[in-house]
Amino acid sequence: MPPAVAIFFAGAFGAVIGSFLNVCIYRLPRGMSIVWPASACPHCGRSLAWFENVPLLSYAVLRGRCRTCSGSIAMRYPMVEALTAAMFALGWWYYGPGTLLAARLLFGCALIVLFAIDLEHQLLPNAITLPGIIVGFLFSLVVAPGWMASLIGIVVGGGVLYLIAEGYYRLRHEEGLGMGDVKMLAMIGAFLGWKLTLVALMFASVSGSIIGIGLIAARRGSMNYALPFGTFLAIGAAVSATLGQPILTWYLNLW
Ligand SMILES: [Zn+2]
Repeated sequence: MPPAVAIFFAGAFGAVIGSFLNVCIYRLPRGMSIVWPASACPHCGRSLAWFENVPLLSYAVLRGRCRTCSGSIAMRYPMVEALTAAMFALGWWYYGPGTLLAARLLFGCALIVLFAIDLEHQLLPNAITLPGIIVGFLFSLVVAPGWMASLIGIVVGGGVLYLIAEGYYRLRHEEGLGMGDVKMLAMIGAFLGWKLTLVALMFASVSGSIIGIGLIAARRGSMNYALPFGTFLAIGAAVSATLGQPILTWYLNLW
């Protein structure tokens, strides 16, 4: 198969997976099963026909509205589908087929789900983070970063945030970081190893601070408004997974 065709099929497959990620994003925080029943319109409850479930195309054809009740379909649906499609296509092109690609795509899917759920609900479900820690460690037995770096990543990733969360709580007597963030960074550690996890944490903190200060400056938030840190952790981990190694090499050469 010519490479361009393979990349196209990877992207199309990614759009279908993205459609499933949308199901997870909608149902996990609501305590609903992700396998049953079939998708339905959240406004009128009518089950969707197969042609209303085609990733990206259905949204475009239906112009973002339910056929029966005209209730609007959230922009999140096509955005998650497009993002997942792009991730699969770029991943195939960047890593080539193999176990590392499988590990990175699975990791990316978990990050997309956590990103969206934390943004909307300020929640990071254990159903994603805990199995993620185990799956990340199992992959590390055969691909980068190796099981030792993965194990240290779990301990360091979870440990650093746990200490920050605990320290913040003792100082301010309110929760700044939740245990969800702790488990999520442990999952990132399992997939990326401890070095890239610290890069991810740095990116998350810097981007979170910039957005936070921006919101305060625009008087849209207060000093006490809790930003969904998991959303920033997801962005930091995605950057670190793809560009972390060159960034780390460059940074260490400065010294
Ligand atoms: Zn409807």
